[in-house]
Amino acid sequence: MADEGTGALAPADSLDRIAYVLEQSAQPTYRVRAFRRAAAVVRETDPDTLRELDRLGRLESLAGIGKATAGVIHDALAGIVPEYLHDVEEATPDVGDRPGAELLELLRGDCHTHSDWSDGGSPIVEMARAARGLGHDWVVLTDHSGSLKVAHGLTLERLVAQIDEVARVNAELAPFRILTGVEVDILADGSLDHPDEVLALLDVVVASVHSHLRDDTRTMTRRLLTAVSNPHVDVLGHCTGRLITGKGRPESEFDAEVVFGAIAAHGKALEINSRPERLDPPSRLLELAVQLGCDFAIDSDAHAPGQLAWQINGCDKAVAAGIAPDRIVNTRDHHALLAWAGTHAA
Ligand SMILES: [Zn+2]
Ligand SMILES: [Zn+2]
Repeated sequence: MADEGTGALAPADSLDRIAYVLEQSAQPTYRVRAFRRAAAVVRETDPDTLRELDRLGRLESLAGIGKATAGVIHDALAGIVPEYLHDVEEATPDVGDRPGAELLELLRGDCHTHSDWSDGGSPIVEMARAARGLGHDWVVLTDHSGSLKVAHGLTLERLVAQIDEVARVNAELAPFRILTGVEVDILADGSLDHPDEVLALLDVVVASVHSHLRDDTRTMTRRLLTAVSNPHVDVLGHCTGRLITGKGRPESEFDAEVVFGAIAAHGKALEINSRPERLDPPSRLLELAVQLGCDFAIDSDAHAPGQLAWQINGCDKAVAAGIAPDRIVNTRDHHALLAWAGTHAA
């Protein structure tokens, strides 16, 4: 049964909340999309019309509203917590008991997120609102670069347009701050998928390998070393490329001592990627990076608002590896973060 609601959410907010909770528990996108779409439909529908359709039991006559979403709208209009929302929330474990919970509280932002400009599922403003809702002060928007065709990577033209869009959204959400960025592809020869003068326009640059993951150790070491030595790169994303769920994917092979040593020498950050299927780097490499003096970025690599909450996974790993909060760049405010990124390109 649904709870009696004091402070029950409006219909569209209830639908968004369900989508958010489903994303957090890594539900398939198609399941989540129905709720996001329904929320948009409700927002576009005149409130009186919505109530009238509900009274007549005809909510499903609205395009994009099905049985489950109609039930949510009905409950919300009645002022009770929708049963569906109650059920998904109950199925989501509380992070308060996790080893990384205290560290999570210290994080001010996230250095690696995607919007629907590349392969994410939500507009920039929705990602930013969700990040703000988590208590963040800033978030770096890092959509893919152009070579990654499967992920609708951004051409230079679209990247420049995105910088304008970020400025517009920032004006709306201030003092919350979206920092401009990119997840730039590390190409086969270690060069980056955007020219230096474009990378120079961005606040924070994450560089990641998405192709030729099976290169031999020498080649992969050279690629990563070339990438992290580029003055515009601030963070090395998901360094081994491993996938640990489903069919899985083995780690790329490279000389971690050389690559992490270079990251430490350049004062850059090694990413702790919090996606449940990645959790990259594995613990033994994370411990090596700690010894070598790297800084770290605990990133969600979120492709949907609810996935922003995955940073707890990276926090658990950081705590297990004994990483002090002052070595985690996300514990800084955006001024300090920008100053840090600025030193690399200077
Ligand atoms: Zn990536
Ligand atoms: Zn990514």
